[in-house]
Amino acid sequence: MSTDFKPQRQGSVKQITSHSNPIVKEIKGLVAQRKHRRDSGLFVAEGLKLATDAMEAGWGVRYLAIGPEGRENKMALEAAAKAKARGALILEVNNAILSGLTRRDNPQMVVGVYEQKTLPLRAIDPDQSKTWVCLDRVRDPGNLGTIIRTADAVGASGIILIGETTDPFAVEAVRATMGSLFHMPLVRCSEQEFISFRKSWPGPVVGTHLRGDKDYRDVDYKEPVLLMMGNEQAGLSDELADACSDLVKIPQEGQADSLNLAIATAVMLFEVRRTHLKL
Ligand code: SAM
Repeated sequence: MSTDFKPQRQGSVKQITSHSNPIVKEIKGLVAQRKHRRDSGLFVAEGLKLATDAMEAGWGVRYLAIGPEGRENKMALEAAAKAKARGALILEVNNAILSGLTRRDNPQMVVGVYEQKTLPLRAIDPDQSKTWVCLDRVRDPGNLGTIIRTADAVGASGIILIGETTDPFAVEAVRATMGSLFHMPLVRCSEQEFISFRKSWPGPVVGTHLRGDKDYRDVDYKEPVLLMMGNEQAGLSDELADACSDLVKIPQEGQADSLNLAIATAVMLFEVRRTHLKL
Protein backbone atom coordinates (compact mmCIF):
# COMPACT_ATOMS: atom_id res chain seq x y z
CA MET A 1 0.00 0.00 0.00
CA SER A 2 1.43 3.40 -0.91
CA THR A 3 1.28 6.23 1.59
CA ASP A 4 2.31 9.89 1.58
CA PHE A 5 3.05 9.82 5.27
CA LYS A 6 6.54 11.11 6.03
CA PRO A 7 7.63 10.95 9.65
CA GLN A 8 8.86 14.37 10.76
CA ARG A 9 12.35 14.80 12.14
CA GLN A 10 12.10 14.97 15.93
CA GLY A 11 13.57 18.07 17.50
CA SER A 12 15.74 18.11 20.57
CA VAL A 13 16.18 19.99 23.83
CA LYS A 14 19.01 22.35 24.71
CA GLN A 15 19.69 24.28 27.89
CA ILE A 16 20.90 27.83 27.43
CA THR A 17 22.28 29.95 30.25
CA SER A 18 24.26 32.60 28.40
CA HIS A 19 22.94 35.82 26.84
CA SER A 20 25.69 35.55 24.24
CA ASN A 21 24.51 32.16 22.96
CA PRO A 22 24.21 32.40 19.13
CA ILE A 23 20.57 31.20 19.13
CA VAL A 24 19.66 33.85 21.71
CA LYS A 25 21.31 36.46 19.49
CA GLU A 26 19.49 35.11 16.44
CA ILE A 27 16.10 35.39 18.17
CA LYS A 28 16.85 38.94 19.36
CA GLY A 29 17.81 39.82 15.79
CA LEU A 30 14.43 38.52 14.56
CA VAL A 31 12.64 40.71 17.10
CA ALA A 32 14.70 43.81 16.34
CA GLN A 33 15.16 43.82 12.57
CA ARG A 34 12.81 43.36 9.64
CA LYS A 35 15.78 42.46 7.47
CA HIS A 36 16.53 39.42 9.66
CA ARG A 37 12.91 38.35 9.45
CA ARG A 38 12.86 38.80 5.67
CA ASP A 39 16.15 36.97 5.08
CA SER A 40 15.31 34.02 7.33
CA GLY A 41 11.55 33.78 6.72
CA LEU A 42 11.13 33.42 10.49
CA PHE A 43 9.40 35.48 13.18
CA VAL A 44 8.94 35.58 16.93
CA ALA A 45 5.67 35.23 18.84
CA GLU A 46 5.49 35.47 22.62
CA GLY A 47 3.31 33.50 24.96
CA LEU A 48 1.56 30.22 25.53
CA LYS A 49 -1.70 31.23 23.81
CA LEU A 50 0.15 31.98 20.59
CA ALA A 51 2.25 28.80 20.84
CA THR A 52 -0.92 26.76 21.29
CA ASP A 53 -2.60 28.57 18.35
CA ALA A 54 0.45 28.00 16.15
CA MET A 55 0.55 24.29 16.96
CA GLU A 56 -3.21 23.88 16.41
CA ALA A 57 -3.07 25.66 13.06
CA GLY A 58 -0.07 23.61 11.91
CA TRP A 59 2.55 26.36 11.50
CA GLY A 60 6.20 25.43 11.19
CA VAL A 61 8.15 26.05 14.40
CA ARG A 62 11.94 26.40 14.61
CA TYR A 63 12.57 27.10 18.32
CA LEU A 64 10.45 27.18 21.44
CA ALA A 65 12.12 28.83 24.43
CA ILE A 66 10.54 27.76 27.70
CA GLY A 67 11.22 29.38 31.09
CA PRO A 68 11.15 27.87 34.61
CA GLU A 69 7.42 28.59 35.06
CA GLY A 70 6.60 27.00 31.70
CA ARG A 71 8.51 23.86 32.66
CA GLU A 72 5.99 23.43 35.52
CA ASN A 73 2.92 24.16 33.36
CA LYS A 74 0.99 21.32 31.70
CA MET A 75 -0.14 23.32 28.65
CA ALA A 76 3.32 24.79 28.07
CA LEU A 77 4.86 21.32 28.28
CA GLU A 78 2.27 20.03 25.81
CA ALA A 79 3.06 22.86 23.40
CA ALA A 80 6.78 22.08 23.76
CA ALA A 81 6.16 18.38 23.11
CA LYS A 82 4.18 19.21 19.94
CA ALA A 83 6.83 21.66 18.77
CA LYS A 84 9.54 19.06 19.36
CA ALA A 85 7.57 16.44 17.45
CA ARG A 86 7.49 18.95 14.58
CA GLY A 87 11.24 19.25 14.54
CA ALA A 88 11.72 22.31 16.77
CA LEU A 89 14.67 22.80 19.07
CA ILE A 90 13.33 23.34 22.60
CA LEU A 91 15.39 25.87 24.53
CA GLU A 92 15.29 25.63 28.31
CA VAL A 93 16.15 29.11 29.55
CA ASN A 94 15.99 31.20 32.74
CA ASN A 95 13.71 34.23 33.18
CA ALA A 96 16.49 36.74 32.48
CA ILE A 97 17.13 35.20 29.06
CA LEU A 98 13.41 34.80 28.35
CA SER A 99 12.65 38.48 29.05
CA GLY A 100 15.76 39.55 27.11
CA LEU A 101 14.50 37.73 23.99
CA THR A 102 11.56 40.09 23.53
CA ARG A 103 12.68 43.00 25.74
CA ARG A 104 9.88 42.46 28.25
CA ASP A 105 10.22 42.97 32.00
CA ASN A 106 7.68 40.30 32.87
CA PRO A 107 8.38 37.48 30.43
CA GLN A 108 5.79 35.08 29.08
CA MET A 109 6.21 31.37 29.84
CA VAL A 110 7.30 30.58 26.28
CA VAL A 111 8.65 32.40 23.26
CA GLY A 112 8.40 30.71 19.87
CA VAL A 113 10.17 31.19 16.56
CA TYR A 114 7.92 30.25 13.63
CA GLU A 115 8.09 30.07 9.85
CA GLN A 116 6.36 32.95 8.05
CA LYS A 117 3.47 32.08 5.77
CA THR A 118 1.88 34.35 3.15
CA LEU A 119 -0.05 33.51 -0.01
CA PRO A 120 -0.13 34.98 -3.52
CA LEU A 121 -3.35 36.47 -4.92
CA ARG A 122 -3.85 33.48 -7.18
CA ALA A 123 -4.43 31.33 -4.07
CA ILE A 124 -7.74 33.13 -3.47
CA ASP A 125 -10.81 31.30 -4.71
CA PRO A 126 -13.76 33.74 -4.93
CA ASP A 127 -16.20 30.80 -4.81
CA GLN A 128 -14.85 29.85 -1.39
CA SER A 129 -14.63 33.44 -0.13
CA LYS A 130 -16.72 35.54 2.23
CA THR A 131 -15.03 38.89 2.95
CA TRP A 132 -11.38 39.75 2.31
CA VAL A 133 -10.03 42.84 4.08
CA CYS A 134 -7.74 44.68 1.66
CA LEU A 135 -5.32 47.13 3.28
CA ASP A 136 -3.66 49.83 1.21
CA ARG A 137 -0.09 50.47 2.52
CA VAL A 138 -1.01 49.93 6.19
CA ARG A 139 1.75 51.53 8.28
CA ASP A 140 1.07 50.86 11.93
CA PRO A 141 1.83 47.35 13.30
CA GLY A 142 -0.72 47.76 16.12
CA ASN A 143 -3.44 48.65 13.60
CA LEU A 144 -2.53 45.69 11.41
CA GLY A 145 -2.53 43.24 14.33
CA THR A 146 -5.86 44.58 15.59
CA ILE A 147 -7.40 44.27 12.12
CA ILE A 148 -6.20 40.66 11.78
CA ARG A 149 -7.76 39.88 15.17
CA THR A 150 -11.04 41.60 14.26
CA ALA A 151 -11.21 39.91 10.85
CA ASP A 152 -10.79 36.56 12.60
CA ALA A 153 -13.54 37.49 15.10
CA VAL A 154 -16.09 38.07 12.31
CA GLY A 155 -15.10 34.97 10.33
CA ALA A 156 -13.59 36.93 7.42
CA SER A 157 -11.70 34.97 4.76
CA GLY A 158 -8.38 36.76 5.22
CA ILE A 159 -6.29 39.88 4.72
CA ILE A 160 -4.79 41.23 1.50
CA LEU A 161 -1.81 43.53 2.07
CA ILE A 162 -1.42 45.91 -0.87
CA GLY A 163 1.84 47.72 -1.63
CA GLU A 164 4.56 48.55 0.90
CA THR A 165 3.12 47.77 4.32
CA THR A 166 4.31 47.39 7.86
CA ASP A 167 5.64 43.89 8.58
CA PRO A 168 2.82 41.58 9.74
CA PHE A 169 5.52 39.46 11.41
CA ALA A 170 6.92 42.32 13.53
CA VAL A 171 6.60 41.47 17.20
CA GLU A 172 4.19 44.41 17.87
CA ALA A 173 1.86 43.29 15.04
CA VAL A 174 1.98 39.64 16.13
CA ARG A 175 1.27 40.65 19.73
CA ALA A 176 -1.79 42.69 18.68
CA THR A 177 -3.26 39.74 16.74
CA MET A 178 -3.57 37.77 20.03
CA GLY A 179 -3.04 34.55 18.07
CA SER A 180 -5.37 35.32 15.14
CA LEU A 181 -2.31 35.64 12.89
CA PHE A 182 -2.12 31.85 12.93
CA HIS A 183 -5.71 31.50 11.72
CA MET A 184 -6.09 34.27 9.11
CA PRO A 185 -4.67 33.77 5.60
CA LEU A 186 -2.40 36.68 4.62
CA VAL A 187 -1.96 37.63 0.98
CA ARG A 188 0.61 40.15 -0.25
CA CYS A 189 0.58 41.94 -3.59
CA SER A 190 1.45 45.17 -5.37
CA GLU A 191 -1.19 47.75 -6.25
CA GLN A 192 -1.01 46.80 -9.93
CA GLU A 193 -1.40 43.09 -9.17
CA PHE A 194 -4.43 43.88 -7.03
CA ILE A 195 -6.06 46.05 -9.70
CA SER A 196 -5.76 43.31 -12.31
CA PHE A 197 -6.96 40.63 -9.84
CA ARG A 198 -9.96 42.79 -8.97
CA LYS A 199 -11.11 42.87 -12.63
CA SER A 200 -12.37 39.29 -12.45
CA TRP A 201 -13.78 39.56 -8.91
CA PRO A 202 -17.44 38.48 -9.04
CA GLY A 203 -18.70 40.40 -5.97
CA PRO A 204 -18.75 43.98 -4.65
CA VAL A 205 -15.48 45.83 -4.10
CA VAL A 206 -16.37 48.29 -1.35
CA GLY A 207 -13.93 51.12 -0.68
CA THR A 208 -14.11 53.19 2.51
CA HIS A 209 -13.39 56.83 1.84
CA LEU A 210 -13.93 60.14 3.58
CA ARG A 211 -15.38 61.38 0.28
CA GLY A 212 -17.53 58.26 -0.14
CA ASP A 213 -20.90 59.06 -1.76
CA LYS A 214 -22.85 56.34 0.06
CA ASP A 215 -23.63 55.61 3.68
CA TYR A 216 -21.87 52.34 4.63
CA ARG A 217 -25.27 50.88 5.67
CA ASP A 218 -26.73 51.34 2.18
CA VAL A 219 -24.63 48.82 0.28
CA ASP A 220 -25.45 45.25 -0.69
CA TYR A 221 -22.55 43.24 0.75
CA LYS A 222 -23.33 40.17 -1.29
CA GLU A 223 -20.48 37.68 -0.86
CA PRO A 224 -17.75 37.45 -1.93
CA VAL A 225 -16.78 40.94 -0.77
CA LEU A 226 -13.51 42.85 -1.10
CA LEU A 227 -13.45 45.50 1.63
CA MET A 228 -10.91 48.21 0.86
CA MET A 229 -9.33 50.24 3.67
CA GLY A 230 -6.97 53.18 3.14
CA ASN A 231 -3.59 54.14 4.50
CA GLU A 232 -3.55 55.90 7.90
CA GLN A 233 -2.29 59.21 6.50
CA ALA A 234 -3.22 59.25 2.82
CA GLY A 235 -6.41 57.15 2.72
CA LEU A 236 -7.07 54.95 -0.34
CA SER A 237 -4.94 55.75 -3.39
CA ASP A 238 -6.86 57.22 -6.35
CA GLU A 239 -6.09 54.10 -8.39
CA LEU A 240 -7.58 51.80 -5.75
CA ALA A 241 -10.55 54.10 -5.17
CA ASP A 242 -11.24 53.99 -8.93
CA ALA A 243 -11.16 50.19 -8.81
CA CYS A 244 -14.02 50.06 -6.26
CA SER A 245 -17.62 49.30 -7.17
CA ASP A 246 -18.85 51.45 -4.24
CA LEU A 247 -17.22 54.16 -2.13
CA VAL A 248 -18.77 54.39 1.29
CA LYS A 249 -18.48 56.67 4.27
CA ILE A 250 -19.15 56.03 7.95
CA PRO A 251 -21.04 59.17 9.04
CA GLN A 252 -19.34 61.06 11.86
CA GLU A 253 -20.24 63.87 14.23
CA GLY A 254 -17.98 66.16 16.24
CA GLN A 255 -14.62 67.50 15.15
CA ALA A 256 -12.59 64.31 14.45
CA ASP A 257 -11.71 64.28 10.75
CA SER A 258 -11.66 60.49 10.52
CA LEU A 259 -11.76 57.27 12.50
CA ASN A 260 -8.68 55.25 13.35
CA LEU A 261 -8.09 52.66 10.60
CA ALA A 262 -8.58 49.61 12.85
CA ILE A 263 -11.76 51.08 14.34
CA ALA A 264 -13.18 51.91 10.89
CA THR A 265 -12.36 48.35 9.74
CA ALA A 266 -14.18 46.92 12.77
CA VAL A 267 -17.27 49.07 12.10
CA MET A 268 -17.30 47.90 8.46
CA LEU A 269 -16.72 44.22 9.22
CA PHE A 270 -19.50 44.11 11.78
CA GLU A 271 -21.85 45.82 9.32
CA VAL A 272 -21.03 43.23 6.65
CA ARG A 273 -21.56 40.48 9.19
CA ARG A 274 -24.81 42.04 10.44
CA THR A 275 -26.25 42.12 6.92
CA HIS A 276 -25.39 38.45 6.40
CA LEU A 277 -26.91 37.41 9.70
CA LYS A 278 -29.88 39.73 8.99
CA LEU A 279 -29.58 41.20 12.50
N1 SAM B 1 -6.50 61.59 6.04
C1 SAM B 1 -6.95 60.29 5.61
C2 SAM B 1 -7.89 60.44 4.43
O1 SAM B 1 -8.02 61.53 3.93
O2 SAM B 1 -8.46 59.45 3.98
C3 SAM B 1 -7.58 59.58 6.77
C4 SAM B 1 -7.33 58.16 6.71
S1 SAM B 1 -8.17 57.24 7.96
C5 SAM B 1 -7.22 57.52 9.36
C6 SAM B 1 -7.70 55.62 7.49
C7 SAM B 1 -8.74 54.84 6.76
O3 SAM B 1 -9.79 54.49 7.65
C8 SAM B 1 -9.42 55.55 5.62
O4 SAM B 1 -8.66 55.52 4.43
C9 SAM B 1 -10.68 54.74 5.48
O5 SAM B 1 -10.40 53.53 4.87
C10 SAM B 1 -11.03 54.47 6.94
N2 SAM B 1 -11.91 55.50 7.53
C11 SAM B 1 -11.67 56.22 8.63
N3 SAM B 1 -12.73 56.99 8.92
C12 SAM B 1 -13.67 56.73 7.97
C13 SAM B 1 -15.00 57.19 7.74
N4 SAM B 1 -15.59 58.06 8.54
N5 SAM B 1 -15.67 56.69 6.70
C14 SAM B 1 -15.10 55.78 5.87
N6 SAM B 1 -13.84 55.31 6.05
C15 SAM B 1 -13.14 55.77 7.10
